[in-house]
Amino acid sequence: MNKKFYITTAITYASRKPHVGNTYEIIFSDAIARFKRMQGYDVHFCTGTDEHGQKIEELAKKEGIEPKKYVDMISSQIKEIWDKMNASYDTFIRTTDKHHIDVVQKIFKKLYDNGDIYLSKYEGWYCIPCESFWTDTQLVDGKCPDCHRKVNKTKEDAYFFRMSKYQGKLMKYIRDNIDFIMPKSRENEIINNFLKPGLQDLCISRKSFKWGIPVSFDPDHVVYVWLDALVNYITAIGYDPDRSSDKFQNLWPADLHVIGKDILRFHTVYWPIILMALDLPLPKQIFGHPWLLAGTSKMSKSVGNVMYADDLSELFSVDAIRFYLLSSMPYSHDGSITYDTIISTWNSELANTLGNLVKRTCDMICKYFDGVIPEVDVETELDDELKSFCVSSFKKYEKLMNEYKVSDAIFAVMSLARRANKYIDETTPWILIKDTKDHGRLKTVLYNLMESIRFISVMLKPIMPQAAEDILKQICSDYNSFDSLKQFGKLKSGVKIEKPQILFNRIDEAKKLKEIEQFNHDNNAELESLPENLITINDFSKVSLKVFEVLECEKLKKSKKLLKLYLDGGNKQIQVVSGIANWYEPEALIGKKVIVVANLKPAKICGEESQGMILAADASEDDVRVIFVDSSVPNGSEIH
Ligand SMILES: [Zn+2]
Repeated sequence: MNKKFYITTAITYASRKPHVGNTYEIIFSDAIARFKRMQGYDVHFCTGTDEHGQKIEELAKKEGIEPKKYVDMISSQIKEIWDKMNASYDTFIRTTDKHHIDVVQKIFKKLYDNGDIYLSKYEGWYCIPCESFWTDTQLVDGKCPDCHRKVNKTKEDAYFFRMSKYQGKLMKYIRDNIDFIMPKSRENEIINNFLKPGLQDLCISRKSFKWGIPVSFDPDHVVYVWLDALVNYITAIGYDPDRSSDKFQNLWPADLHVIGKDILRFHTVYWPIILMALDLPLPKQIFGHPWLLAGTSKMSKSVGNVMYADDLSELFSVDAIRFYLLSSMPYSHDGSITYDTIISTWNSELANTLGNLVKRTCDMICKYFDGVIPEVDVETELDDELKSFCVSSFKKYEKLMNEYKVSDAIFAVMSLARRANKYIDETTPWILIKDTKDHGRLKTVLYNLMESIRFISVMLKPIMPQAAEDILKQICSDYNSFDSLKQFGKLKSGVKIEKPQILFNRIDEAKKLKEIEQFNHDNNAELESLPENLITINDFSKVSLKVFEVLECEKLKKSKKLLKLYLDGGNKQIQVVSGIANWYEPEALIGKKVIVVANLKPAKICGEESQGMILAADASEDDVRVIFVDSSVPNGSEIH
């Protein structure tokens, strides 16, 4: 039986469509999963969506729909992007799945029964977006230390997890298992910032909102969204405190959790402790990947620099975006994405280096050998160098991929492509063809180039699955496994290839940037949801503003604040009740022209019908000024 490899991404919070930075994680994990499968592992690749919490409850409310409906929508959007990016996951778990909910409740109960969870009172500060409680001393400038947003004072009954009980055990575990937290630099962060100062017991239930998994024995409380989310790694593969599935027995512990560096604390402190309390083995490795920045700043909707993977793959291609993300994200420090750098990567790496190599080589085979891959004939030392470069590139690549240094691994592959291009220049096939006595040499050169292309494409399979497959098909390769890269010369000769297609056409940068601008303009106009304080021109056009003349005006007997006005709007007359009696005598208004919201739903105010609203300005704290219109403007004029 093959060795298993259980790999997970963090589940994505179903609050909104994930940007390309969030999508990096699934693509990175997918590359690792594909790589491990090619190494012969029985890979189980798990991803999904995290769907509970106050933030989602509020977003759904804003949309006027039930939270479940909201997360259904976002979760399927996320899954669509994962699928589009060719993510080869085996399980897509949603924290609203019934099995997950049942097991979270059982886990909570079990931990409570064991004494790891206890009921107490919480008083402190709460950050809604982070769903985190903070003490006075944890706040930074009175704001959330994680996201720097404002926090709200909260006091409520809450269940707590006895984190402190496991602190020593966890410290020891991290010290004994040097590969547990990767990259290594992040381990110190966790030890020094969180473990050494001492662990506080963790507040693990919420009463302030409803959208969560209820605590089974105290349903006023919902389970803290982080506990709910973290245990997805075990519920997804069939964990159950009563009786776990065989699948769980086989797959757990996870071999690799891939997560963003910002949630490392949850995965290297809370998660291991939860597992210890459940008496389960800890995951073997946790990899905190860096962030993808838009240029040099964090991607954010309010800044307006957000890019989406599905848009990018339409503008370029799925494989090109995978290649870009995987090759340009460093191992431990943040990467960057801009349209310019995607275009330059495309042109230099994909078009000039890889595409050109394949096209040139296949073209020459078609031209010189009628498309039939030649056999090796006359060899020189130059060939040995290329051959050993191929084999050593694979070794390098495999070692780096095993260490999850994906961008370095890609660099090794592309170095081979550059080496092969150089081999063309060194051997000058276009001169060899001219003299029949050089044809033996020409055969060898073209065979070696084809075999180098095979090496490159097999290594690129986890990175660009489709493009790699296309190239392998182009060169008619039957040998596409890692095993076949241990030795140079597996490609069959005597096989006839098709006329080569261009894989990556060179991009005209100026033209492409224009196209991108147009694309973003078209898309954003309809799809982007707007920052909270803005409306679209369509929203505004729903409001009908018209000029009305005050025909009559009187005080309303039942109220000191209200005036009743009869207004003429040209083709119709209406009655409006307005709260301006403090500032205007009725006589002063008669004959004046005012602006009225003319399509307001009629309402009864103090028993009087009001069919519109008069616009007025808050001139100062205790002064209201009606906005008058010049008397020359005809009654009923539309205001835009
Ligand atoms: Zn926060």
